[in-house]
Amino acid sequence: MTKIGILGDLHANLSALEAVLTLLELEGVDEYYCVGDIVGYGPRPNEVIELIIEHKVQCVAGNHDWALLGKIDSRYFNPYARQAIEWTAKVISKQYTEWLAELPLRIDRENLSVFHGALPHPEEFAYLQSEVVARNTFMDFEGPVGFCGHTHVPLTYLLDAKGQLNVHFQDDWVLLGDTRAIVNVGSVGQPRDEIPAAPGMIYEPELGMLRLLRTPYNIPAERKLIRKVGLPRILGDRLESGI
Ligand code: ZN
Repeated sequence: MTKIGILGDLHANLSALEAVLTLLELEGVDEYYCVGDIVGYGPRPNEVIELIIEHKVQCVAGNHDWALLGKIDSRYFNPYARQAIEWTAKVISKQYTEWLAELPLRIDRENLSVFHGALPHPEEFAYLQSEVVARNTFMDFEGPVGFCGHTHVPLTYLLDAKGQLNVHFQDDWVLLGDTRAIVNVGSVGQPRDEIPAAPGMIYEPELGMLRLLRTPYNIPAERKLIRKVGLPRILGDRLESGI
């Protein structure tokens, strides 16, 4: 049975990423995807990229990755996000900037699609939070499940064979019949659903099974490091409450 791990919005939080990868590995996951926002906010962009390359995580680019590359204007980011992008630009190694520049905006496989915000225009980084955006996204991929991130809040849209669309904040599903799903997998590195533990999704395509696991990690250490490197302290403080 194939077990696929899906990781959301890593945001250069190495402690969280290590914990999630350890957990998913113990669950038998051997294939990984990431819905983007690998950098931004967090203090260890180089180490996070190194680890995801090591685990052969197949990634799409997020808006923070594109802001770092100058592909979108970070002037529209909130001040903390913008400061973090400027800080990241100073510390990230050239080889990893080049690696980020090669990332696609979507990945489509037989069993799944991966993108950061919404389809059909992933380069617009729209938030998938409405029925219209959800339906347009469903129309633009073919497989049973589309995985996204961007809002940092786990959420699932289900579309049944009759065209009925429903949104749920429940994380775990078994997809029955022709029901399709769009799943926001939450954020590993900067969760905003008031659960500080880092989330990691396991998808078993043969069973149509989706499970969102959470793991605690060393938040005080990550928070301390955020302050130590000179990033805005709020970016560390909010890790404690998951907002
Ligand atoms: Zn993000």
